[in-house]
Amino acid sequence: MSEGIKSAAVIGSGVMGSAIAAQFAGAGIRTHLLDVVPRDLPAGAETDARARNRLAQEAVARALKTKPAPFYLPEMAELVTVGNLEDHLGRLASCDLVIEAIIENLEIKQQLFRKLAPHLSDSAVLASNTSGLSIARMSESLPPELAKRFLVMHFFNPVRYMHLLEIAPGPHTDPAVVARAARFGEFLGKGIVYTKDTTNFVANRIGVYALLQTAHSLLSAETQAAGIGIEAADIVTGKPMAGSGGATFKTADLVGLDTLVHVANNCYDTLTRDPERAVFRVPPLITELVKQGRLGRKSGAGFYKKVGDDILVLDVQSLEYKPAQKPRFDSIGAVRNLEDPRQRVAKLVAADDAAARFAWKLLSHTLVYSARLVGEISDDLVSIDRAMRWGFNWELGPFEVWDAIGVKAAVERMQRDGLDVPAWVREGVLSGPGRFYPGSAAAPTFFDVPSRKEKPIPRDPRELRLEAIKSDPKRVLRKNLGASLIDLGDGALCVEVHTKMNTIDGDVIEMLGAAVSEAERNFEALVIANDGQHFGAGANLFMIFAAAQQKKWDQIGTVIRGLQGALQGLRYARVPVVAAPFQYTLGGGAELAMAADACQAHAETYMGLVELGVGLIPAGGGCLRMVERHTRHVLGVEGADLLPLIGQASLTVAMAKVSTSADEAKQLRLLQPEDGISLSRTHQLYHAKQRALGMARAGYRPPRPRALVAAGKDAAATIGARIWGLVEAGYASAYDGLLANQVANVLCGGQVAAGTPRSDQDFLDLEFEAFLSLCGQEKTLARIEHMLKNNKPLRN
Ligand code: NAD
Repeated sequence: MSEGIKSAAVIGSGVMGSAIAAQFAGAGIRTHLLDVVPRDLPAGAETDARARNRLAQEAVARALKTKPAPFYLPEMAELVTVGNLEDHLGRLASCDLVIEAIIENLEIKQQLFRKLAPHLSDSAVLASNTSGLSIARMSESLPPELAKRFLVMHFFNPVRYMHLLEIAPGPHTDPAVVARAARFGEFLGKGIVYTKDTTNFVANRIGVYALLQTAHSLLSAETQAAGIGIEAADIVTGKPMAGSGGATFKTADLVGLDTLVHVANNCYDTLTRDPERAVFRVPPLITELVKQGRLGRKSGAGFYKKVGDDILVLDVQSLEYKPAQKPRFDSIGAVRNLEDPRQRVAKLVAADDAAARFAWKLLSHTLVYSARLVGEISDDLVSIDRAMRWGFNWELGPFEVWDAIGVKAAVERMQRDGLDVPAWVREGVLSGPGRFYPGSAAAPTFFDVPSRKEKPIPRDPRELRLEAIKSDPKRVLRKNLGASLIDLGDGALCVEVHTKMNTIDGDVIEMLGAAVSEAERNFEALVIANDGQHFGAGANLFMIFAAAQQKKWDQIGTVIRGLQGALQGLRYARVPVVAAPFQYTLGGGAELAMAADACQAHAETYMGLVELGVGLIPAGGGCLRMVERHTRHVLGVEGADLLPLIGQASLTVAMAKVSTSADEAKQLRLLQPEDGISLSRTHQLYHAKQRALGMARAGYRPPRPRALVAAGKDAAATIGARIWGLVEAGYASAYDGLLANQVANVLCGGQVAAGTPRSDQDFLDLEFEAFLSLCGQEKTLARIEHMLKNNKPLRN
């Protein structure tokens, strides 16, 4: 729920303001985007509305061109109304939330608040997106009654893609306003971290500390002598350190070196009593790069420079760029392929080479610094870990890393190194539970610093996690190597795929069949979901490749028929089936989601029938569903023209289109118009469960098998002619053309007259035949092999 926030205003239409407005629009909220009237209005344009709104207008246009896109769909920009701060302050009266994202300057923000205050409604929330200015000082410019409704809502860049929203109340903020802002943030899909009114709040304080610590350390004589340069430092501080250094210099280039310097200077200037203040002094190297306009990715060069396809790296001595090297360290080689980030980081710091020593030095300082800040920036260590994971993409937060490497041994080593480990760690944690997170997945707990006691981590009932549910063995009803059946409670069963990248193999197919039987016998509804990184990245290509090479057509045939059978079983189950796709939902993964009665997708769902990329066509009912979805609204309409409908479906499949959002997946009919979209990934499984149970309790009836109508062979020929036109014009290879023709043939129902009734099985047979025949083609095998080796499609 949007917490009664039906309309909002964003003041300042720069990088952040325009992206916040896009996010609000994506949540269905009417949003005013206001900026100053440009100072350089040409003569005669002083009263021209377009000229006066130019800044906000151009910001929306820019946002529409930005990649990755701030809007889920370009059309959503229609919910954003542009304006300016002289003519349109009257619009604020109708806004439930007003958030400013103007230049980071206390006096200018205070002036703005004085200007806005008389125009706000009595119940509106007023927020600042400041990165680190004092909230108390900003509040001074507000009437006391409005100061109660004022707080910081600190979104991270890029707003749509970064999960973190830091919320910081001011000295006068009403707790009910804080709660309302947090619930609104959750509705937007954000992870909330409450922070105190301290410089740069939580994530930037620790993130920038870690970043600068790496930079200082890199430039030290010891590190230079060990031969660790920028690219080596990035390798160490990336995956091997569980991301807890965040691939430092790449991150700095992405954030922008000017922004980094700004945040660092703000820390240095205001944290006068911080014993680690010197770390925030920007190294001369970075100051020089900023002076020369080498700001990182936005200016084309920073620590790295892209020249054509080559990435060059800065030589810190000469400030010239040179080809990036791939430095080798035994410690890195030993950990980089470990799945579990905890194991990776523990094994890395236990090793003894230059990379391992560099990692330990950075980590030990960052962990101790984070421990010292508990109480100052946030009351609990859970918030600090979350802020670093959600705001800086660290795989593990500092206290999770500390637990992974062993608190006792790490403290002893830190003390030997002369680091000042806070007493609450030395005495509280070590003489108490021995870990920062002593609990289990089912009953997670944390070490509460003020009380020095273990406490449960509060859980929102909407935060359903399969990992936690599965820790009760009674809830896991069946399990094989590929998938599990889990009792979600309240009458809902879940089938969870858990192969690598959640690809579909024989085990998964078997479990899908078992899921339907179990759900029909003992449950009201079935949900298809998982806790992984992606919903599903297709079928197990390796197995198909190996069988095709050995010409084991029967084996491939059995798998395809098995998949079709399992997905048809889901489609016609006696209980409602809801799939919860998110992130990559490709090939067989898309077909699995499309077999359900309904989807409850996460807003970030990148869905597509991508089989053509590997020289195949969808054969798990993907073509059948595309026909159904493109033609069902005209079934029974006399003389309806199916050609444009099937033409569009063919294009989506033949171009292996992948949606850039769940909303776009609806436009491509990969999702259905009535499917649900959760902005929050954290709440998605809960939403999916509610949807499935809601369908069951509203008198669910399974779909009736119903004949579709073939667009027919003439339509296939017309679509084929268009495809060959594209091949002739050089937009597609001849093999792409051949594959696209196969797709058109299947989607048109085969070589039959237009209007011929075709059953599900007819379409499935056509898919099957086309798939098997393609498995025998050399170019298809070359495509599959290339994908398996390089994880990229080959266009042969
Ligand atoms: P920006 O420079 O891209 O945009 C600033 C906007 O403020 C511009 O549209 C400008 O026209 C407008 N502006 C300037 N002076 C103004 C005034 N007197 N009155 C009204 N509007 C005025 O800046 P940004 O990066 O979008 O940052 C905006 C705010 O968000 C800052 O407080 C910043 O600290 C914070 N922030 C930035 C990031 C980031 O990564 N860029 C992340 C989180 C928070």
